[in-house]
Amino acid sequence: MPEKNAPLRPKTLLPIGFSIIIFIMILTNIFAITKMNNHSNLMSDTVNQRLYNNSLLRNMIQASFNRSIILSDMLKTDDPFINDELFLKLNIEATTFTVNRAKFESQDIDEKMDQLLIEQDKLSRKVAPLQNKVYELIQLDQRDQALALFNNQTLALQNKVHTSINEMSEHQYQSAQGTFEQLKNDNKNVLMTIVLFNIIGVLLSILLTVLILKRQNINDQKLAIAANTDTLTQLPNRSRFIQIVDQHINAEPESIFAVIFFDIDYFKTINDNYGHAIGDKILVEFAQKISVAIKDGDVLSRFGGDEFVLLLKSANSHEKIATFVHNLSTVLDTSFNVKNNEIFLTSSIGVAHYSKDATTAKALLKNADVSMYSAKQSGRNCYQYYSKATNRKIERNHTLSHTLHTILKDDNKNKELFLLYQPLMNIAEGAINECEALIRWKNKKGEMVMPDEFIPLAEKSNLIEKINLFVLNEACKQQNEWQQAGITDVRININLSGNKLIFKKLLKQFRRNLRSMNLSPLLFGIELTERTLNEISQDTIYELEDMRELGMKIAIDDFGTDYSSLISLKNLPITTLKIDKGFIDGLPDNKDDFALVKTIINLGHSLNLDIVAEGVETFEQLQFLKEHACNTAQGYYFHRPLEGMQIMDLKLVA
Ligand code: C2E
Ligand code: MG
Ligand code: MG
Repeated sequence: MPEKNAPLRPKTLLPIGFSIIIFIMILTNIFAITKMNNHSNLMSDTVNQRLYNNSLLRNMIQASFNRSIILSDMLKTDDPFINDELFLKLNIEATTFTVNRAKFESQDIDEKMDQLLIEQDKLSRKVAPLQNKVYELIQLDQRDQALALFNNQTLALQNKVHTSINEMSEHQYQSAQGTFEQLKNDNKNVLMTIVLFNIIGVLLSILLTVLILKRQNINDQKLAIAANTDTLTQLPNRSRFIQIVDQHINAEPESIFAVIFFDIDYFKTINDNYGHAIGDKILVEFAQKISVAIKDGDVLSRFGGDEFVLLLKSANSHEKIATFVHNLSTVLDTSFNVKNNEIFLTSSIGVAHYSKDATTAKALLKNADVSMYSAKQSGRNCYQYYSKATNRKIERNHTLSHTLHTILKDDNKNKELFLLYQPLMNIAEGAINECEALIRWKNKKGEMVMPDEFIPLAEKSNLIEKINLFVLNEACKQQNEWQQAGITDVRININLSGNKLIFKKLLKQFRRNLRSMNLSPLLFGIELTERTLNEISQDTIYELEDMRELGMKIAIDDFGTDYSSLISLKNLPITTLKIDKGFIDGLPDNKDDFALVKTIINLGHSLNLDIVAEGVETFEQLQFLKEHACNTAQGYYFHRPLEGMQIMDLKLVA
């Protein structure tokens, strides 16, 4: 639903504004055209009126004039018949005069005309009796007297009547002229009004266009800023940053500068534990800490989440860049005050140099990102410079993860993954009663990918869950095969890793396998690293305790390489300690290794644990272990990891 009271955008305002202006202009023009049309009608009415009135006045003059002529004709003849006929004509003319006058009077006449009509009426009233007298004298045959009256009085008065009618005609012309003038002025005003309104309309349109364009411009600018800025920190965002770096490269292609990628370590836990508001505060503070350390011309940007990228122009040599990065990493290894708690945060930093590592903004960013990723891989809280080898490694890791994912999705149908078994030698008895299952990956090209490379990758994704299951099922199948072949005394130790969630499912499956294949828990052992042991839940510990009760061995693998407290050694359901190859390598000459191995053996024995030495390669090492009562040895001195069938042969020969 569109938001109520949303401000009108210039794009909407433009048509609305112009519609209003055009509407007003159309109204004005319609009004003006109507007005002018009325005026033109009025003019034609006035002209018609005038023509009509003129014809009436002309008829009156003609009738009056005719009467004088008739009278003069009467004076010239003494034929009584002609006289009667002329008398009739005289009366007809009188009627014509009266009718036309009456018609004229019935018109819409003004005051002046009314006055003129009265004057004319008075004159007509004087003329008519005189003309009648002339006619009477003619009838009485007193022609001289009639002629004298006609010439001396009647004609003069008759002329006055004509003059008065002419005056009326003149007045009529004047008043029509006045009306015309008035209409002409009105038309002029209407015309002026139209022109004025149209000019105002055009000016308003221009004003509106300018205002809207201005507003559009401001909006565009705001949008451009918003599209280029990170809203939380007001720093340039990714697309703007790439533009800035590319512009700098174009402007100064010979310069030396660095693109530095920052990622806060374990930032997700801050959001999860303290909420996003606190997370945002920390991000702003983090940005401020970097901003304080940089100089004019350097550009810090935020790419979203906890990723920040810096264009470092101010350090223009590799040495200066190195000093800057080192100092900044110290500044960023710091605490943040959150709700009166001090939170310590570190960050992983990746650096790429222009033009050594890349020559475009995007490539520099990619390489800085790869270096940052490599810093994360190296344990976080450090910085890494871009190197082609690191890049190759990261790309290989991506490919390996992807391929492994596909293999496991296809249930390993091409048998690229398989297990080898490395025998463990019981030192006192010289017998092989157990082996360690070690996973192998032979890829399509026939190359061997070792677990040291792909297991850590699998541990970072859910692939480890599938690998654990695969190893477990394969080891159970192998044990089942051995059992069928009469080899019943070789325990298989399985390496398991992953988080607490994985273990619950895994142990369930383990129990199911044992039941379905009718295998004893005594035939299996589990190897867990100290790191894995530190992560498992109490529930899993109880489960492991149950399994140990049933006779399964549980070993701490690579003992001594990670952290495990003595109390955990006491509390965890462990049966065995496997001393890491790293300590065995130095035996018997290295004093430290000598002391440490001796101590671990004594410690294990005092806790009633079996001790296995890994990576035994020499007779001297074996000798030392024997002397110090180490229980078991595993290493190339005896056997490399072997196939299941080879173990079978080995046992059958023994
Ligand atoms: P680990 O569990 O400590 O296994 C012992 C490693 O030492 C094996 O390497 C083995 O081949 C090697 N080794 C044994 N004796 C000698 C020796 O005398 N000299 C030398 N140089 N090496 C020796 P591998 O098979 O490459 O496995 C490496 C690691 O990968 C294992 O260390 C284990 O942590 C992990 N891994 C192997 N298989 C699996 C598996 O199925 N599941 C899991 N989760 N991890 C596995
Ligand atoms: Mg192991
Ligand atoms: Mg080991």
